[in-house]
Amino acid sequence: MKSLRQLYKVGVGPSSSHTMGPAKAARLFADKHHDCRQFKAVLYGSLALTGKGHGTDRALRKVLGNCEVVFDCDSPCVHPNTLELFAYKDGKQVDKMQVFSVGGGEIVIAGESPVEHEDVYPLSTFKQIADFCRQNDLRLWQYAERCEGNDIRDYLKQMWRVMVKDIEDGLQAEGVLEGGLNVQRRAKKLLLTDRKESMQTRENRLVAAYAFAVSEQNAGGAEVVTAPTCGSCGVIPSVFRYYQLTFGWDDEKIVNGLLTAGIIGNLVKTNASISGAECGCQAEIGTACAMASAGLAEMCGMSLEQIEYAAEVSLEHHLGLTCDPVNGLVQIPCIERNAVAAMRAINAMRLATFLADSRKITLDTAILTMYETGKDIGEGYRETAKSGLAKLYRG
Ligand code: SF4
Repeated sequence: MKSLRQLYKVGVGPSSSHTMGPAKAARLFADKHHDCRQFKAVLYGSLALTGKGHGTDRALRKVLGNCEVVFDCDSPCVHPNTLELFAYKDGKQVDKMQVFSVGGGEIVIAGESPVEHEDVYPLSTFKQIADFCRQNDLRLWQYAERCEGNDIRDYLKQMWRVMVKDIEDGLQAEGVLEGGLNVQRRAKKLLLTDRKESMQTRENRLVAAYAFAVSEQNAGGAEVVTAPTCGSCGVIPSVFRYYQLTFGWDDEKIVNGLLTAGIIGNLVKTNASISGAECGCQAEIGTACAMASAGLAEMCGMSLEQIEYAAEVSLEHHLGLTCDPVNGLVQIPCIERNAVAAMRAINAMRLATFLADSRKITLDTAILTMYETGKDIGEGYRETAKSGLAKLYRG
């Protein structure tokens, strides 16, 4: 498995596959053709169908400047997120590059072997890692640190600072999100209430407020951390921040949580997928929920078995979750969904305190099942905005 630096990345929202990936491809292409002033991009599959809502054209033009962007919604494509970039000099095409945006901001260039980041983790299933940790008396975060090296802690502190900034900025922001759906920002409304409420209601409200804050920042095109993607970037920060503020946890403890969560995200990325276009929302929000729940279980001092159960329950009960963003915008159902997944992550962790010893399904099985299920989900429900809410929503 690759470094957590490839999983947690700072990028501009709202979508790692639709904005970060294409922007990365455009930067490579622009560097190769710095003497060209005219470019064209043709988007296929999910990139064509939801690229407008996700702001793919804006992300490309930001890098390439004068770039015609064509949304080809009809032609078949090899990968659900395919784009072709063309460079022109004196009106003549001088180069063409076909790129696949494979999720989490990563790209693969057709005809080139994928840029292989070094494998820093020799083990790639939860069972292998858990056995190794038991034999060597390690916690999961210690195993991650041993594989990554100590400087990963500083990197993750940087990521945490961006996450916290998104919560703080998002809680201040007001108004309507761009895109035409007239979606109001609601994080501040959730934060500020003078209603009488139970402790449990207060917890849910605050966790949801933080998740809305980050997801609304993402929808507004702010800098966010992929956790594991932009669309699902609100789950981990909201859960971790609520606990940090409630129990006074320091950032070192949060880093332990991010390391543990990162192992779970890496396992899904390696053995299945974290891309909504490939496997539906279960791959994004389901993974984020499993990561948050496992990280929280770690920070609460729970056992390996309980951490596995928390992650497994979180992923298992997102199986089949489709991706059907209305108008292709990362707003409905995405923003609310981050909040729901955050609350679910906490509940899964709590269930794990009681039931981990009765677990029948392993995390590895849940990950493989998610991938199989994702391949069976119809194309209309894999970030194409053709079916589900995207089709039936009437405003
Ligand atoms: S529905 Fe889920 S996978 Fe699809 S764009 Fe929204 S958050 Fe991402």
